[in-house]
Amino acid sequence: MIVILKPHSTEPEIQDVIEEVEKLGYTPHPIRGALQTVVAAIGDERVHQTLESLNALPQVERVLRVQKRYKLVSRESADGDTVVDVDGVKVGGKNFVIMAGPCSVESEDQLLATARAVRKRGASILRGGAYKPRTSPYEFQGLGKEGLRILDLARRETGLKIITEVLSERDVEHVAEAADILQIGARNAQNFQLLIECAKSHKPVLLKRGMNQKIEEWMLAAEYLLANGNSRVLLCERGIRTFETYTRNTLDLAAVAIAKNESHLPVIVDPSQGCGRADLVKVLCRGAAAVGADGLLIEVHPNPAEALSDGQQQVDFSTFGDLVTELAPFLQAAGRTLV
Ligand code: PEP
Ligand code: MN
Repeated sequence: MIVILKPHSTEPEIQDVIEEVEKLGYTPHPIRGALQTVVAAIGDERVHQTLESLNALPQVERVLRVQKRYKLVSRESADGDTVVDVDGVKVGGKNFVIMAGPCSVESEDQLLATARAVRKRGASILRGGAYKPRTSPYEFQGLGKEGLRILDLARRETGLKIITEVLSERDVEHVAEAADILQIGARNAQNFQLLIECAKSHKPVLLKRGMNQKIEEWMLAAEYLLANGNSRVLLCERGIRTFETYTRNTLDLAAVAIAKNESHLPVIVDPSQGCGRADLVKVLCRGAAAVGADGLLIEVHPNPAEALSDGQQQVDFSTFGDLVTELAPFLQAAGRTLV
């Protein structure tokens, strides 16, 4: 870290800072300029205590970090792109994966029809929420355990892998029995106890970016999973809150490119929550492929007009089929193979 002292700091004030830096476990290297002194503090910022507390000293102008706050999710910690094995489906590397299905599991008929339809059209992972985080307590909250039973049935019938959201720590164990991937939703993106519990389940985890989360905070949330022993993590960009009203959220494709640069973990894009409009899903999928995403999480419903949640953003079977077909040249240009 670098500690910048205020202009005209006295020698005793500089010595105080040097001593504090040493006390916190760093080796201080003072650089005396004509006007200002800078103390370079050498040491691993992720092991030693932070020096940001030195801002409290009156002679300190600013403390700057040199290293990133995340380590295990960073590219420095891995040799190339991580490929996450989801019970045989390999996510990451040159592969491109499509996860598709309804926002909510509503019935056996609805889920099984969707599972067959999306499998036939190119999906290898089935999504469907059994526990739904709804803004209003009067809205459909999901079928809970019955929803998990239906997801399990769909897995056994179609061979598709299952991704479903886990809302609370107390649900992790039984959701992990039905799911091949645990989804941590945007509203829980910084629920650190839930992250730790999901890490301990040793199931692959898809971590959504919170709707008001900075990229660094998203990486640090993923760091919780890796630091707690789970390296099978997928990052998921699903749009952030902005002033825009034409879309439900603003899908941040720049964040996808940045996450790919920063981290070795696969990055998935959810265009459905990302814009909240069925008519934009297809073009956003192309954009996601073009910026280097490793896969998509798409809401598909047999009859979106009758959906119990997020009807406005779910695509029907034929639109989903066209979307996958028309995505092919974009995947080819990006050097990806659909798995
Ligand atoms: C969802 O996938 O249906 C969902 C609730 O997602 P998010 O957490 O991104 O809002
Ligand atoms: Mn949804």
